[in-house]
Amino acid sequence: MSNQGQSLKHLNTFALPVYATRVIGINSVSTLITAWHEARMADQSVLLLGEGSNVLFVEDFSGTLLLNRIKGISCTEDSGAWYLHVGAGENWHQLVCYTLQHCIRGLENLALIPGCVGAAPIQNIGAYGVELQNVCQYVDLLDLNNGVSQRLMVEDCQFGYRDSIFKHCYKEGFAIIAVGIKLTKAWIPTLSHGDLTQLDPLTVTAEEIFNQVCATRRRKLPDPAVTGNAGSFFKNPIVSRKKAMEILKKYPRVPYYIQPDHCIKLAAGWLIDSCALKGHRIGGAAVHQQQALVLININNAVSQDILDLARYVRRQVVAKFAIYLEPEVRFIAANGEINSVECVG
Ligand SMILES: Cc1cc2nc3c(=O)[nH]c(=O)nc-3n(C[C@H](O)[C@H](O)[C@H](O)COP(=O)(O)OP(=O)(O)OC[C@H]3O[C@@H](n4cnc5c(N)ncnc54)[C@H](O)[C@@H]3O)c2cc1C
Repeated sequence: MSNQGQSLKHLNTFALPVYATRVIGINSVSTLITAWHEARMADQSVLLLGEGSNVLFVEDFSGTLLLNRIKGISCTEDSGAWYLHVGAGENWHQLVCYTLQHCIRGLENLALIPGCVGAAPIQNIGAYGVELQNVCQYVDLLDLNNGVSQRLMVEDCQFGYRDSIFKHCYKEGFAIIAVGIKLTKAWIPTLSHGDLTQLDPLTVTAEEIFNQVCATRRRKLPDPAVTGNAGSFFKNPIVSRKKAMEILKKYPRVPYYIQPDHCIKLAAGWLIDSCALKGHRIGGAAVHQQQALVLININNAVSQDILDLARYVRRQVVAKFAIYLEPEVRFIAANGEINSVECVG
């Protein structure tokens, strides 16, 4: 530990050289409650972190960082489904592997998404046509102030695209301690996206989908263990039909997805790429050469480099398309989360 506190370089996948006053590993609900109260009594800010794969520390964190490492997977079944109760500190990808090892299908499209199970409901993680909301049964939430936990069933979680009730109503003073997952035995493969469309729905196995997803992700996305990044930096913007038509008239190749409410989701990566920003560099930060939606720590970046680059990218996209990209990554300042849109505005 230095004078600045404890280094978070290995606790944020951007690998930024930031510090927290104190870092505590948490492996049970009781230690979580105790650590929370001790920090609050000392008038310190507290941040709960999983694996730091969806955060941008814009500066040092002036407080106690609680690393959620609450483990445990239990599994029951009935004639129709498997039911998993998973501790929030389990690694998501390891959970996907566990299910396949036990011949339980349904999570294979979500392979290799970094992070903890407890963070998965917060932004309703999704990939290759599947989102957490498709498999989530419930989320167990602890009120740290009074130690009381409650179970929110999937219909109460207000899941949306990279969104849930946990981003809005249960931020300060709440911790997700477990997630319930229901995987139906009447498995139907989801092959609607990317390379998966080439697989045969009649013969494909969950293992084949898993292998394809892993291979594609390894090919296309930078590995945070090698090159610091937090996955997609911005969300795909959802615009009105009218706005989408204007853009499509001018740029017919922009990928788009019609939403259930008839709004249109546009591919943010394509918008950034068409501003010729791949490889664009500011300080130690760069737009990834293959995936324009991913900002990377290419060479000893500091937080300001990533912020400056994010702001630059956003301004270029506004100038060309009049679309304001919103960060998907959560921004953390000295005392906790701050408004990311204001930060890059
Ligand atoms: C290379 C790469 C690829 C990615 N690909 C995808 C993808 O395909 N799809 C996708 O959806 N995401 C993707 N992500 C984003 C990331 O993996 C997910 O958002 C993941 O769920 C974050 O988990 P985490 O444990 O690292 O959360 P953290 O970054 O540690 O935390 C994220 C936020 O949740 C809060 N939090 C964490 N745990 C808890 C808890 N138990 N209770 C309450 N609050 C909590 C934190 O305070 C923070 O605000 C990718 C990231 C990377 C680096």
